[in-house]
Amino acid sequence: MKPKYKRVLLKLSGESLAGEMKHGIDFETVLKICKPIKECVDAGVEVGIVVGGGNFWRGRSSGEMDRTRADHMGMLATTINALGVCDALEQLGVNVRVQTAIAMHQIAEPYIRNKAVLHLQKGRVVVFGCGTGNPFFSTDTAAALRAAEIEADIVMKATMVDGVYDSDPKKNPNAKKYDTISFHDVLNKDLAVMDSTAASLCKDNNLPILVFSIEDPENIYKAVCGENIGTIVTA
Ligand code: UDP
Repeated sequence: MKPKYKRVLLKLSGESLAGEMKHGIDFETVLKICKPIKECVDAGVEVGIVVGGGNFWRGRSSGEMDRTRADHMGMLATTINALGVCDALEQLGVNVRVQTAIAMHQIAEPYIRNKAVLHLQKGRVVVFGCGTGNPFFSTDTAAALRAAEIEADIVMKATMVDGVYDSDPKKNPNAKKYDTISFHDVLNKDLAVMDSTAASLCKDNNLPILVFSIEDPENIYKAVCGENIGTIVTA
């Protein structure tokens, strides 16, 4: 199988790193996810990764807390995950750089777009931590933003479901999965692909999103090869 895309932005949810534990980081799971990422790099694909933080903390679920502070905590959670993914990739022999949207000089590079692109061109994976660096945003929006900035061919959203459905497949056994769907329909039907900020950003910048299941991590390599897995959202 040959890669279809030259440069991709992979979005890994925090949940996907927790494995069976459903919380925190299960390093074995992270290693399993990183193996196909190495395959992509070895096949010449440039890979940027935005990591979520939901396995530790989500600002929007913080109840009575001040939302901005809660989101700062969420962004710190994404950085823990970024370092975990970095370590797993390095153990597999992949060159990696972590860049954070909020400067943490002692533990990661600050996010600098041109530097990120140079790393990618040199075959290094760049893991983006801290989302966009702003409260009230999600890491899905960060994925769309970084993808637009680094001029990725596609946003690959690896999640716990295997695509976009017309209704919740956990509640409706007759739910229908789309192979492709337009951003217009996603936004109008309020389908749970990404939050609307992220979907709008992709729509406005002509960035397709592939939503696929990470349950089988090999899907990452299949997705990069353009195999018909998951759902593609396009203009
Ligand atoms: N977050 C934020 N700004 C961003 C990205 C993330 O404030 O640009 C915070 C927010 O609190 C969010 C948390 O980080 O809930 C973790 O990100 P997200 O919920 O997107 O993680 P995922 O659900 O993908 O694991």
